[in-house]
Amino acid sequence: MWIDPHAHLDRLLPESSPLSRQGRAWFDEAMRVVKAAQGMGVSGFIIPDVTSRYPRRQSKICKATPNCYRAVGLYPGHAAEAEPGLEAWLERQVKEYSVKPIAIGEIGLDKRWDLGPQRPVFRRQLDLARALDLPVILHVVRAHAEVMAIFKQDGPPRRGVVHAFSGSVDEAAYYAKIGLYLSLSGAVTYPQARKLRRAAVAIPADRLMIETDSPDQPPAWLPDQPNSPSALVWIAAAVATLRAEQTRAVLDRSTAHIKALFELPQEMR
Ligand SMILES: [Zn+2]
Repeated sequence: MWIDPHAHLDRLLPESSPLSRQGRAWFDEAMRVVKAAQGMGVSGFIIPDVTSRYPRRQSKICKATPNCYRAVGLYPGHAAEAEPGLEAWLERQVKEYSVKPIAIGEIGLDKRWDLGPQRPVFRRQLDLARALDLPVILHVVRAHAEVMAIFKQDGPPRRGVVHAFSGSVDEAAYYAKIGLYLSLSGAVTYPQARKLRRAAVAIPADRLMIETDSPDQPPAWLPDQPNSPSALVWIAAAVATLRAEQTRAVLDRSTAHIKALFELPQEMR
């Protein structure tokens, strides 16, 4: 069995869809997508947080799904939601929720929005991950230099992954050198993503993970449809072709890395 380390199963329905707020539609959609993925051999899932709004959704999905785990954190696009009590709120979830988060994430910097308010929120969550000794799931979009500057000042995270990596060969080398994993998503399947595809080949095998980032980052052959964890196998196949490896080897290794990083049980149901 393989694991999708980044699937937003709690928000598969578009926010704009009236269904997304109605009753159990979000839950039914998650169960449908999980079942389809299991049929493809993808039967482990990590649901990262983006906003503080839906912790109950994640717990509910994880309770109903074997091998499902959650992470907590505030995504850079929601940095404005941060309050002075952010750390206490996150820590309470780690210690008290029945479905305990296994990581802090996704957190980071994203140049599509003003970096000013994002920096302190990112650093506070990095500090919290250090204090709780949890791995981090990093979201970095066009802000690798800024993230590196923070790591140089505060020290890099002890353990973590740069999710949906979109940087260059040199940026990948930096993250690998400081001991982080690099996770590739649907973006790598686009032939025009030349810089990323060069990086995908250069990432050391012992640092590489594959994810979907569902429902975001649909692969090149389904550009207008929501992504789903079933696509993990096909994204891995695209990466395997680039690296001249076997798809199964890429997926097996990715799953081993996910278990090691997030300290998941070696044997899964
Ligand atoms: Zn994400």
